[in-house]
Parts: sequence; C-alpha cells; structure tokens
Amino acid sequence: MARIIDGKMISTIIKDECKEKAAALKKQGREVCLAVIQVGSDPASSVYVNNKKKACAYIGINSLSYELEEKTTQEELIELIAKLNERKDVNGILVQLPLPKHIDENAVIKAIDPKKDVDGFHPQSVGALCIGQPGFVSCTPAGIIELLKRSDVDICGKRCVIIGRSNIVGKPMALLMLRENATVTIAHSKTDDLREVCKRADILIVAMGKPKFIDASYVKEGAVVIDVGIHRNENNKLCGDVEFESVSKQASAITPVPGGVGPMTIAMLMKNCVDSIELQ
Ligand code: NAD
Repeated sequence: MARIIDGKMISTIIKDECKEKAAALKKQGREVCLAVIQVGSDPASSVYVNNKKKACAYIGINSLSYELEEKTTQEELIELIAKLNERKDVNGILVQLPLPKHIDENAVIKAIDPKKDVDGFHPQSVGALCIGQPGFVSCTPAGIIELLKRSDVDICGKRCVIIGRSNIVGKPMALLMLRENATVTIAHSKTDDLREVCKRADILIVAMGKPKFIDASYVKEGAVVIDVGIHRNENNKLCGDVEFESVSKQASAITPVPGGVGPMTIAMLMKNCVDSIELQ
C-alpha cells in the first residue's frame, strides 16, 4: 500500500510559515495586501474567492475584494487593474478565472503588473520560469514541487511523466520538474499509447481533467503518483483523475483527492503574496 502524501498537513505548515513571515514584515511596518477581483457571480468562483479571503485573514494578509457585475466591460476591468498596479499598498492582484465570455482573459492577465502577478499567469512570469529567472510561479504546480520535496521524494534524474499541457498546470509543471533535474515527458490528448508512456514514469503527475481515468495498468510498480484532478462523482463526493483504490496498491506514494494537491494551491498563493514584497 502506497504512502499517502498529505497535502492538508503540508499546506498547513506552509500557511503557518507565511503567517510568521507576514508577522515579521508587519513588525518592520510592511503589510502584505492582496486585491481579489471577481467578475459576475459564478457560484464555484465565489467559493474559491471566499477561500482565498479566509486564507488571507488566517495569515494576516490584508485583502481587498472587488465584486464586479457580469456586464463589466474589458476596458473597465483593465482600468481597475491599472489603478491597482499603481497603488503602493497593494502587493498582489488576482483576477478570478474564468471571466465572462465577452472579456479576453489573455488581455486581462497581460494588464497585471508582473511584479504583482501572484497567480503566475502573466507571459513575463511564464517566460522567467522558462529561462530560470526569478518571478511568480503558477500556484498548483509550485505546490506539487513542495509536496514532493517535503515528502522526501527524490526528483533529480528521475523519469517524470506529466499528463496534460494546460498553461496553468501541465506546462509550468514540466518546466518546474526540469528545473529540479527530472527527465520530463509531457503526454496529452494526442499522445500515442498513453499507457506505455505512463508505465515508464518514476513520478507520474496527472492533470487531464478525466475522473478516475488512470488505473493501476498505467502505473509502474513503486512510482510516485500525483493526482491534480478534481471532480464530483455520482454520489457528489470528490474524486481525482486517478483511480485511487487500485493505483494506491501499485504506487510507492500517492496524493489523495481531497487532501492532496487541492489545499496546496491556496497555500502557494499565500506564499506568493508574502514573497511578493521581496520582488517589489
Ligand atoms: P485542461 O482541460 O486545461 O487540460 C487537460 C489536459 O489533459 C489537456 O492538455 C489535454 O491534452 C490532456 N488530456 C485530456 N484528455 C486526455 C487523454 N485522454 N489522454 C491524454 N491527455 C489528455 O485542464 P487543467 O486546467 O490543466 O486541469 C486538469 C485537472 O486538474 C482538472 O480536473 C482541474 O479541475 C484540476 N485542477 C486542479 C487544481 C487544484 O488546485 N487541485 C488546479 C487546477 C486544475
């Protein structure tokens, strides 16, 4: 039976480290402040935004909340971002995605000052990651690196297969694993013989958005398996992209859903906010 990589526990440790750092900064008269913008009232987005505000309160980060109407124009949104870019008391700017269809997400992300881009989605942040320069890193993949390191998983020289090539998970994940000296393969929807590719992995990171797709037949004995997927099953219970029951018998370590990668995303957002003061 695989060892469980406990994201809930590790994310709590990271949040407590952020809390200490925020308190130390406060003593020097420097307060951390995150501005969160939501356009429209998508219920899932509202839950995410509330969780972010709660995490800020726990850590001692000031949060500014902008709840804009669904009909807000792209120009109005970019105007607000420009004002927040200018404000010295605002360290991080986060625009909750997805945005309503009439707004171009790429244009909005590009409008954020890269020094305040705590989500790590700005092209400049992605470029900096690509060439090994300092900058913000997308929170979910950054959280996975913390999970692996803090669980003593050896990355250097290992074969890592990442399933998924999205801009927010798969691609930055591949760059981070490369930075840690893994030998990286990216698999995606057009990959031939996915099973055979996955079977070669010492570390298998699954971010495909397909509930319980990866069963034990995709996993090498003793591999480390990281499940990024989040879904609700037919009983309204959370599950991942990995079929936990069979894979946990084949792997040496595995993240559960819930309680694996999920809690790390907010913890890393908080870390980016606290660290932003050093970049600014
Ligand atoms: P996405 O839909 O943008 O990308 C999915 C990727 O999987 C694509 O690149 C696609 O090529 C690949 N894929 C799809 N079907 C495949 C197949 N049959 N074989 C091989 N590859 C296939 O999704 P995303 O935004 O990267 O998210 C992936 C999953 O992770 C989703 O379930 C999402 O909800 C979850 N997620 C979780 C967190 C978290 O905090 N835990 C954060 C982001 C995303």
